[in-house]
Amino acid sequence: SIGITLYPDDNGAPDELLAHADQAMYNSKQQGRDSFSFFNQEMQSQSETRLLIKEQLRLAINHREFVMNYQPIIDLHTGRVVKCEALVRWKNNEGEWIPPDQFIPVAEEFGYMSVIGEQILELVCRDIQHVRLQGFNDLTVAVNRSVQEFPRSEAAVSDWLHMIERYNIPHTSIIFEITESLLAPENKIYLSALEHLKNAGANIAIDDFGTGYSSLSYLQRFPVDILKIDRSFVSRMSDTPKDNMLVATIIAMAKTLDMKVVAEGIETEQQYRLLSEMGCDFGQGYYMARPMPPELLLEFLQNNKGN
Ligand code: C2E
Ligand code: CA
Ligand code: CA
Repeated sequence: SIGITLYPDDNGAPDELLAHADQAMYNSKQQGRDSFSFFNQEMQSQSETRLLIKEQLRLAINHREFVMNYQPIIDLHTGRVVKCEALVRWKNNEGEWIPPDQFIPVAEEFGYMSVIGEQILELVCRDIQHVRLQGFNDLTVAVNRSVQEFPRSEAAVSDWLHMIERYNIPHTSIIFEITESLLAPENKIYLSALEHLKNAGANIAIDDFGTGYSSLSYLQRFPVDILKIDRSFVSRMSDTPKDNMLVATIIAMAKTLDMKVVAEGIETEQQYRLLSEMGCDFGQGYYMARPMPPELLLEFLQNNKGN
């Protein structure tokens, strides 16, 4: 990964030049390495934003400023809410909501993700314990885990399991959503931690399925419970069968491998109908419900009578 800056166009001062070359190199790394980038002003402002978010995140961790939203996941055969996905929300000290897509990469870059992940799991356990106490014992909750926050040892995974136990939630009520890249052959170090979660009864889902580059052989090597079809596939569905072939294939493959399928990003009645006709097990998306705070999730559950 190479970063290039031009003298005297970009800046004259030696330390500035070095900093610019460094920002350009960071950009090359972001683009997937093995490439070169020329410095530009946009990189400068991106790098300033990253450092600002980093500082604000440090405070957010200390002050425990994160909260969770929950998006219902519906059984497409019955119309009932059976699961939900926990999605983190953060308002910085200037009162702006910063989307997870923006701050999680920064948290990962600076090594903050494992401590944020611990806080997230505790928030989820607290919220779900409350929901369970209102009589919704069957609801399972999916928690996202990025590669950077995933522990390499069984011991660290045990901390997660103990947290879940402390809130009297059965391990079987928790799904850990990971991405395909975690199961890539070069990531064997995660296998024992994943197996430990599985053996304890927790479920594993593959998030954004179909968007990674890894080979499919990992699906056989590792007992995955759920495939989540990425929203990009769902958005391309139509009444023309050809447009639905990929989704149909993923559903058929999951059935063969004895896995369940969740379709993500359902935004229209048509997508909902097509997916349920195709035998997709579960669905999630704005058409049914947006992510919502825990008190609204409770209301949603109370009003949800199914088809
Ligand atoms: P994701 O795991 O794929 O989460 C689904 C994202 O799609 C959520 O965005 C959700 O609000 C959005 N979404 C749901 N239904 C629809 C729909 O019908 N249409 C459209 N256009 N979007 C829909 P969100 O909450 O902004 O999260 C973005 C990403 O940030 C997540 O993608 C996940 O990768 C990451 N993330 C969120 N919360 C956490 C967390 O607690 N831990 C970790 N590690 N990552 C998280
Ligand atoms: Ca997810
Ligand atoms: Ca997803």
